[in-house]
Amino acid sequence: MQQMILDLQLNAMRLAGKKVGAELSGDRTIVVHNPFTQEVLGTVPKITKQELIDLFEKTKAYQANLTRFERANILNKAAAIVRERVETISKVISAEAGLCLKDSIYEVGRVADVLQFGANEVLKDDGQIFSCDLTPHGKNRKVYTHRSPLLGVISAITPFNHPMNQVAHKVVPSIATNNRMVLKPSEKVPFSAILLADILYEAGLPPEMFSVVTGAPSEIADELITNPNVDLITFTGGVAIGKYIANKAGYKRIVLELGGNDPIIVMEDADIDEASTLAVSGSYKNSGQRCTAVKRMLVHESVANEFAEQVLAKTKAWKYGNPLDPQNDMGTVIDEQAAQLFEARVNTAVSQGARLLWGNQRQGALYAPTVLDYVDPQMELVKEETFGPVSPIIRFKNIEHAIQISNGTAYGLSSAVCTNRLDYISRFVKELHVGTVNVREVPGYRLELTPFGGIKDSGLGYKEGVQEAMKSFTNLKTYSMPWG
Ligand code: NAD
Repeated sequence: MQQMILDLQLNAMRLAGKKVGAELSGDRTIVVHNPFTQEVLGTVPKITKQELIDLFEKTKAYQANLTRFERANILNKAAAIVRERVETISKVISAEAGLCLKDSIYEVGRVADVLQFGANEVLKDDGQIFSCDLTPHGKNRKVYTHRSPLLGVISAITPFNHPMNQVAHKVVPSIATNNRMVLKPSEKVPFSAILLADILYEAGLPPEMFSVVTGAPSEIADELITNPNVDLITFTGGVAIGKYIANKAGYKRIVLELGGNDPIIVMEDADIDEASTLAVSGSYKNSGQRCTAVKRMLVHESVANEFAEQVLAKTKAWKYGNPLDPQNDMGTVIDEQAAQLFEARVNTAVSQGARLLWGNQRQGALYAPTVLDYVDPQMELVKEETFGPVSPIIRFKNIEHAIQISNGTAYGLSSAVCTNRLDYISRFVKELHVGTVNVREVPGYRLELTPFGGIKDSGLGYKEGVQEAMKSFTNLKTYSMPWG
């Protein structure tokens, strides 16, 4: 593993256009730590603003013209490499993100899925045909649609929580549509992104089609957003930075996938064993650091005691600790600062009347899965996005009350509802202000292919998922011909 990190460091130097072997001064490198052991994993260079400007220019000048067959081949080959090397790749993810092996192995599988879906989608023709004799004004003609790659470069920025899958969701649709992309991963987890880039090059991707840059946001973020060679910015991350980008980008296309505060809503007819299992896994998988993690458990008051008991029992059984122990269900959160924030918010909620049933212990970045009951919807713990393994139970009286609480935050990403009643389900589908409603599943359930994304502060309504991202990464042209 250490050798692999060393190789990735060298590749990060090459990607940044640095001479391999050149000494970089301390303030020109980013040090990456293992959140569990605190040891230094390695360093990556800080690209300068001028180097980034040059890279955008060089990237724009490159014409990508791979055939559909060639693009599908590269993506399929990369998927096969990822599946074959799941063991080493998952260890890199676990080492830099603190996610347990169960989570990082799952993530590697998702990355392979994204690649496979990209390969399949590329082979489909994307044109539509409209006959023009549909109305009295019509003519004997046909209108056709045609999608082409953007004229400029795509600038992509990704968060820490799914270090490789977030990158895959940017680069795969970009390759599938013959675009060129420059991507900046989170400086907390750069090695997973660099590793995916290496795999894509090994599978035959021309390097000009995808560059990974590492650097300090204070030096390069504005260039990533405003560079004139950039046509589209695709960002996944928190609301504050998403809104900063929206203000700064001006006349450029932007795709924003921002935070979430997703509820699981448990009605009185729900199977409580199933609902509590979904609630617990939705809350703690990926150390609670999923934009679609269960962040609020809204439970009908008539079943809340039974639900709380089962959540408590299942939380006690959730093993956490060393991320590299294959038996563990959860590793650390991203860093100590994040864990301290959860601890502080839980303490505040308890001081305001919530009951702590389990957890809220912290050791560095290791934070215990935590359950609280009698949480009030106005408490900061649930009003804001608490991006960690915390299970706050909020009791409600009826469906109107549940919908009102659910819609009562600034976010609108996804949701889960546990009920078999069709009248309830149809109200939730119509009345929840979210991008997804999953019945008897966690809010995060999706295929890597299917449309995904939120509204309100969770996003502008533009969807991701391989198919939708391919649409937003292309220009749609229509042409018409005089043959009906
Ligand atoms: P973050 O917003 O702190 O950082 C995201 C990225 O933005 C990083 O690469 C960071 O370096 C970069 N950045 C920092 N300053 C910038 C600036 N001024 N301009 C442009 N980019 C800048 O997010 P995070 O803490 O890495 O990730 C967690 C957040 O991401 C959570 O809010 C989570 O809900 C959200 N998220 C959303 C989705 C989704 O699909 N909706 C998926 C995953 C994560």
